[in-house]
Amino acid sequence: MPKRQYQSKFCRLCQDKVVRVDYKDEKRLARFVTEQGKMVPRRVTGTCGRHQRQLAEAIKRARFMGLLPYVGRHHRHG
Ligand SMILES: [Zn+2]
Repeated sequence: MPKRQYQSKFCRLCQDKVVRVDYKDEKRLARFVTEQGKMVPRRVTGTCGRHQRQLAEAIKRARFMGLLPYVGRHHRHG
């Protein structure tokens, strides 16, 4: 299994000085979900607890708005 390259010790959102995670910012959110639409664990992304909470909320909302796929709905062929 190949290792992911974006593993980081620091919270990206803190680095970017993000105060509030916006669910409409799906390009940013997409970095924190897998291809299957699952949330990437914070030990992988290095996200701090505060931002991880906000991310979880934003991702949930983005899914509801159809900006991100639901877990398990996305089927890959081949
Ligand atoms: Zn943070």
